[in-house]
Amino acid sequence: MANTLFRKGLGLKHAVEGELLRDYHSSLVSKIRDSDYQHSAGRLTIHLAQEFGFCYGVDRAVDYAYQTRRRFPDKTVFLTGEIIHNPHVNSRLRDAGIRFLSDPNENIDSVTADDVVILPAFGITVAELSLLTDRSCTLVDTTCGSVLNVWKNVKKYARDGYTAVIHGKVKHEETQATASQAIAVDGGQYLIVLDREEVEIVCDFIRGHGDSNSFQKRFSNSVSRHFDPKRDLRRVGLANQTTMLMSESLAIAEMFRDAMIERYGDLLIDDHYRAFETICSATQDRQDAVQRLLDEQDFDFMIVIGGYNSSNTRNLARICAERVDTYHIADPKCLLSVEQLRHLPTTHKADVKNLGEVTSSGWLPTQGPINVGITAGASTPDIIVGEAIDRISDFSAASIFRS
Ligand code: SF4
Repeated sequence: MANTLFRKGLGLKHAVEGELLRDYHSSLVSKIRDSDYQHSAGRLTIHLAQEFGFCYGVDRAVDYAYQTRRRFPDKTVFLTGEIIHNPHVNSRLRDAGIRFLSDPNENIDSVTADDVVILPAFGITVAELSLLTDRSCTLVDTTCGSVLNVWKNVKKYARDGYTAVIHGKVKHEETQATASQAIAVDGGQYLIVLDREEVEIVCDFIRGHGDSNSFQKRFSNSVSRHFDPKRDLRRVGLANQTTMLMSESLAIAEMFRDAMIERYGDLLIDDHYRAFETICSATQDRQDAVQRLLDEQDFDFMIVIGGYNSSNTRNLARICAERVDTYHIADPKCLLSVEQLRHLPTTHKADVKNLGEVTSSGWLPTQGPINVGITAGASTPDIIVGEAIDRISDFSAASIFRS
């Protein structure tokens, strides 16, 4: 039996509007937006970045999930995993009875033809899609158009005989899904690189230094099966996970270009190197907005709000941390007291599972005016930003009495 597939919503946009407002809207944040992104309370002044929070892809994915629940009230509805990287949103969907195939007691085998499965904004791998197709279930595909655009480019690279070099995080669902598109094409290969340090090693190899064995060892988890660096690094096409740091992606593309020119010469560069900018516009807008905010103001500290496994949030935190004390918090409850808060260190290499969040003291100045900058990742709803602002306001008022 063929799957029923929904890609453009389920015709219930207006029916779920109220629920979405109730679960994700913040009147405080709307008020701050209308007040030139500024908010003052006593000695505290808060400045919001002009672009933050839910992006178009996340907005749509969450909307479709609510529409799905409404359209199929009596069916079992699954998500393949987190719909987006935000704990608040995922827990709301769990509360609505949506089950997660990524949970330890769930798997694709338990999906029947009568069930509905929602695919997340960052997409799923070709292999996972094939398994779901075999179950003949109803599919609601919320894969973001910007992710589909990356897939289109990666498939073209593979068809033209170029290895897809993906600047991304190996374990990120989107990067896994993108890599799977490369190998779905006959002879397609991929290599995933995290940062400049890794790219240095790859570029050294392209220039003719280094040996295949150490290369294979270093990148064993980041390449396609049967990847042969001697063969597969002769022609490369660059792509990104859509939520990476733009400045780093551009630098990485340049490094590959330079290495290829050094190896094969300027005239033959097009035969060995291709690039296509695949950072999505929402990610770019949020990174630009926070840079502008940091250019315009001196802050006592920045608060960056978003899931710890949210790549775009972590990159916003990295941008801020280069300029000012920065705390990446997952939600308002991380603001523990006037003295303490929990947060994730801002290095891009911080392993959420192993390093985890840390508790810091003395985050809030106890005397004088406090100037705070705030931004939030593309998967953070306004309601969470509003609650964080309320908490900072309460603590800054309380800290006066203690000083
Ligand atoms: S961050 Fe970009 S690619 Fe990801 S869902 Fe949002 S708009 Fe789409």
